Amino acid sequence: MDRDEKRKIITEKLAEIVGREHIATSREELLSYSYDGTGQEFLPEAVAFPGSTDEISRIMVLADQEKFPVVVRGAGSGMTGGSLPVKGGLVLAMSRFKRIIEIDQANQIAIVEPGVINGHLRDVLKPMGLFYPPDPASLNFCTLGGNIAECAGGPSAVKYGVTRDYVLGLEVVLADGRVIETGCRTAKGVVGYDLTRLFVGSEGTLGIITRIIMKLLPLPTAAITFLVCCRSMPQATGLVRLILEQLQPRTLEFMDKTAIALVKNRLPFALSAETAAILLIEVDGSPVSVKNQAAQLADFLDRQDVLSYQRADNRTEADLLWQARRAVSPAAFALRPDKISEDVVVPRSKIPELVTFTEELARKHNLPVFTFGHAGDGNIHVNIMLDKKNKDELEQAEEAKKALFREVIRLSGTLSGEHGIGNTKSRFLPLELGSETIKLMRQIKKLFDPHDILNPGKIFPEDQS
Ligand SMILES: Cc1cc2nc3c(=O)[nH]c(=O)nc-3n(C[C@H](O)[C@H](O)[C@H](O)COP(=O)(O)OP(=O)(O)OC[C@H]3O[C@@H](n4cnc5c(N)ncnc54)[C@H](O)[C@@H]3O)c2cc1C
Repeated sequence: MDRDEKRKIITEKLAEIVGREHIATSREELLSYSYDGTGQEFLPEAVAFPGSTDEISRIMVLADQEKFPVVVRGAGSGMTGGSLPVKGGLVLAMSRFKRIIEIDQANQIAIVEPGVINGHLRDVLKPMGLFYPPDPASLNFCTLGGNIAECAGGPSAVKYGVTRDYVLGLEVVLADGRVIETGCRTAKGVVGYDLTRLFVGSEGTLGIITRIIMKLLPLPTAAITFLVCCRSMPQATGLVRLILEQLQPRTLEFMDKTAIALVKNRLPFALSAETAAILLIEVDGSPVSVKNQAAQLADFLDRQDVLSYQRADNRTEADLLWQARRAVSPAAFALRPDKISEDVVVPRSKIPELVTFTEELARKHNLPVFTFGHAGDGNIHVNIMLDKKNKDELEQAEEAKKALFREVIRLSGTLSGEHGIGNTKSRFLPLELGSETIKLMRQIKKLFDPHDILNPGKIFPEDQS
């Protein structure tokens, strides 16, 4: 039987499981599921839109028999190629898994399906006075399943932590179709190995998440924002340390001077020409607590030798201050048509060293490089601008990325704080993890998925097994 015939038979079997109307095979439809946030393209052979855990389980039994790759896809907003079928096969789109099954207000938990959009859950919880904190910038379109598979984080991680801190339990379909439940719906629970945590950040390589039990918090009802113009990057990081010694802000973001230069003419307020770094700080909580925190922060800033600071006491004013940060990415494309965006992490105190290193990278490789990100937790977005059609620039950018990763490891950091490894960073895994660690991780993968059906070609370097 040739490949086309086999594909036809498998597609028929898939249609029997999910219904013909929930299978896509036309080129136009396949193209829509061939890309993600990285700009790479890999065409799947078919896309299925299952409607229940049982259907997914039957699809996996079929995949196990016929040995075809299955790649789960949430919203396809991933930044490392996680949802791309790099070895062909079936894309399993989770768009029909969008039910909020239960919100238990008394115990502050939600039970949801993985296709629910992060921002939608937040909107539903708000009138109930509840809150799901992880806030990736993509929250208006990314799914909770994708968030768990990547362990997504956002600006509020410095106070509230990241996705893994809110996942209590999961229902998961394994590579051979078995369905398991992990964790529990109570805040505490230590029965057996913590399989829930193993699935968090597993990038769709160990199982397909079909149901999530998540922890919620009471909704903070007030927030005040500060934008601080600093004389130097070391001054900014020095302030970050001192602020974190006395307060617990919900965001503590920074922009370096190259990022500031990109946006300074687009802002609704003037910036001093001497501004070498910006800090965006937000405190939240009850109105009384926010008032006290803001007074403490203002008092502290008044005693520092900063260039200036502004304060926003309501959302409209805060949005004006946030424009500085939000304008950076769009403005960057005036420099070059393409961007390599890395989300490395270094210990907070090492941020100035890393920013200086990125300035050297820009000079050495003759490409624009700028940084911004989460100063409170050391998670820095390093952006290398290039024209991918220009072969020399592409080579230089790849060299710069490699050098960046080496430097991050030298500074005791980690290659990814939010975006995961996918296929874009897999070859760099040995820079951070020892061979025995990688070997053990591969053994875990083999135990869960002996035939490498789930999301093959991700996380692990291809050339070593
Ligand atoms: C403009 C923009 C801003 C962003 N900002 C942030 C940010 O601030 N912080 C951040 O962390 N990320 C950010 N991202 C990256 C991305 O949004 C996150 O990684 C997000 O978690 C991906 O969710 P998704 O639904 O798009 O998943 P996809 O991209 O579809 O998939 C991501 C991975 O999850 C797996 N997966 C999806 N659903 C399941 C499931 N049900 N079971 C098992 N595996 C599954 C996929 O196989 C894949 O490996 C940003 C992306 C963009 C485009």
